[in-house]
Amino acid sequence: LSDRLTSVFSSLRAKGRLSDADIDATCREIRIALLEADVALPVVRAFVAHVKERARGSEVSQALNPAQQVVKIVNDELIEILGGETRRLRLAKTPPTIIMLAGLQGAGKTTLAGKLARWLREQGHAPMLVAADLQRPNAVQQLAVVGERAEVAVFAPEPGNGVGDPIDVARRSIDHAKRQQHDVVIIDTAGRLGIDQELMRQAADIRDAVRPDEILFVVDAMIGQDAVTTAQAFMEGVGFDGVVLTKLDGDARGGAALSVRHITGKPIMFASTGEKLGDFDAFHPDRMASRILDMGDVLTLIEQAQKTFDEEQAKKMAGKLTSGDGFTLDDFLEQMAMVQKMGPIKNLLGMMPGMGQMRDQLNQIDDRDLDRIAAIIRSMTPGERAEPKIINGSRRARIARGSGVSVTEVSSLVTRFFDAQKMMKRMAGGLGIPGMPGSGG
Ligand code: GDP
Ligand code: MG
Repeated sequence: LSDRLTSVFSSLRAKGRLSDADIDATCREIRIALLEADVALPVVRAFVAHVKERARGSEVSQALNPAQQVVKIVNDELIEILGGETRRLRLAKTPPTIIMLAGLQGAGKTTLAGKLARWLREQGHAPMLVAADLQRPNAVQQLAVVGERAEVAVFAPEPGNGVGDPIDVARRSIDHAKRQQHDVVIIDTAGRLGIDQELMRQAADIRDAVRPDEILFVVDAMIGQDAVTTAQAFMEGVGFDGVVLTKLDGDARGGAALSVRHITGKPIMFASTGEKLGDFDAFHPDRMASRILDMGDVLTLIEQAQKTFDEEQAKKMAGKLTSGDGFTLDDFLEQMAMVQKMGPIKNLLGMMPGMGQMRDQLNQIDDRDLDRIAAIIRSMTPGERAEPKIINGSRRARIARGSGVSVTEVSSLVTRFFDAQKMMKRMAGGLGIPGMPGSGG
């Protein structure tokens, strides 16, 4: 796939504008990549259409070639969709927090129950596992082993009473948890090999009996396209609040993640990556996006191209800084925005003799500050920005009105600017700064 993309890139590289043809060509490759990753076709269609629209409206980036830019949009969009509304586990106001696991047999529910329990225990909780899977003969035993490994309590029906009633077990487990001061209850339920009515009814009955704070739908990332029908069935039959993707240690490209997220709108909360208790992590949308796209090299390239571009901008600015005179309020604003966005110029400044003070000043700016400064500068005329000396009392009052700040704030900004300019003039007078364009004369 990467080979194909490279050829698309080289044919597009020379152009400066993002045309419909550029977008279409790249999107054809994206479409294939998504299908190869097992993303369901309707989801692929909707996603690609969405990306095309965004790409069309987007400004042409100076840092990237058109194909790279489209890939970047795709990647950003994937991360956004996969990560949109990510959230932590919701803990109940009055304990215990009840978490119910639902999913097909073999999805990894019981394994996950242990992982989740251990993870919670490590965070200072006192979780309890509940064996509400009474379908398979050794399911209770399996959970007992998992509980032992995770070093957490397990609530199970007493042996010897024949087949117990999972709804009754779930209900009784909550009272038990309260008595034993367990603050989180994790209910492991039965699954079937396929979607079936009885399974859904049982899960729904358990849900109604215990009213969980979180129902997590556990789905095997390896099942690919089937993830969509399974997710839909569980959505309708039981309903759920979050998704856990399992078996991400396998070679599945993880299209299931995008499909399930797209179809159900529910957040993917955790990722399971192996059979051991520690093979468990919060879900990382960025990792998933690059896994689905399978364009690691391309993404790295894009990142590098952007970084280089940013560094060049920073150097250009540093050049202007050291010459002092050409430094305007627009530059001041741009420079602060840049400092805000990334580190390089701060480091650059730190290396220049006498710049320590300037760097300290820059370090003090926070986001809100920057917004206000931007508002003030944007309320100035171009003439005032280029020649701040002309900003007298009445101009200050006008600028203050225009930007919704006090006159004092406008004055303080102008003073800050003059300080910065003075400092730079002083430096420009004779300091040769190695490797700095525009410095030393
Ligand atoms: P359940 O039927 O939903 O309770 O699924 P289980 O927890 O019993 O898991 C089914 C099988 O998948 C077991 O052999 C697990 O060891 C295995 N398994 C579960 N999660 C993972 C995972 O993230 N990675 C891998 N490789 N295997 C897993
Ligand atoms: Mg199980």
